[in-house]
Amino acid sequence: MSKKTVLITGASRGIGKAILQSFGNDYFIVGTGTSEKSVQSILENINSLNLKGSSFKLDLGDRTSIKELTSLLDSQQIYPDILINNAGITRDNIMLRMKEDEWDNVIDVHLNGQYLLIKSFIKKMVKNRWGRIINISSTSAVLGNKGQANYAAAKAGIEAMSRSLARELGSRNINVNCVAPGFIETDMTKEISEGNEELLSSQIPLGRLGKPNEIAEVVSFLASEQANYITGQTIHVNGGLYM
Ligand code: NAP
Repeated sequence: MSKKTVLITGASRGIGKAILQSFGNDYFIVGTGTSEKSVQSILENINSLNLKGSSFKLDLGDRTSIKELTSLLDSQQIYPDILINNAGITRDNIMLRMKEDEWDNVIDVHLNGQYLLIKSFIKKMVKNRWGRIINISSTSAVLGNKGQANYAAAKAGIEAMSRSLARELGSRNINVNCVAPGFIETDMTKEISEGNEELLSSQIPLGRLGKPNEIAEVVSFLASEQANYITGQTIHVNGGLYM
């Protein structure tokens, strides 16, 4: 059986890096980062784990960059069977002060960027009658969060888009799901958690922040044949923060 190709956006750090590490030798792994340094570090990670794969530059906030990536993959005949939309940013501000570019950047990177990637990669999945799309959402989509109207709106949009896609693509054997992390220890939460860890943990029934690999395990399960009958779902992984 030929190796399935998995594409993970934002594979240089945090949750994306853990997702990359959760795929073994049965896969050809493609990771993206925003800079040459990130692209290089992804490749080093792939090589150090003796995995097969490659890495590319991608800025989801820039449509030209998305087009360049999809044409480059096409020219190298790399067609993702599994697309993991993980890359993300925050530009937090309360609505009274939120600037248009803070709103636009977050919507672009999460929602518009994912739309463009999904649209270009599903053609081949439809042709192959097999595919997996796994989108990383957030508890902010369902709980809301002060200062995160942009981020929560983008993540809620991703969840709603995923359910619609699950209905559109189910007959082609393409499963579309979301994983919604709670507070996970990565660069994204460093600022919020520094000095506040005890307060944050007290709101979480399991009493601690999550680790990137605890999200990655669920993502790699959803990508596996064991998850063949799961589609249109958002799996919450948050230590009980939202239930
Ligand atoms: P992170 O540690 O900040 O890593 C972000 C990743 O996204 C990096 O690989 C980064 O690449 C890439 N990235 C940033 N801006 C990008 C852009 N414009 N275009 C393409 N890639 C970009 O974040 P994380 O905590 O692992 O978060 C991963 C996902 O989980 C995100 O979707 C986030 O919203 C979601 N999430 C995280 C938490 C949490 O508590 N950490 C909770 C809920 C949901 P470079 O290294 O090149 O900058």
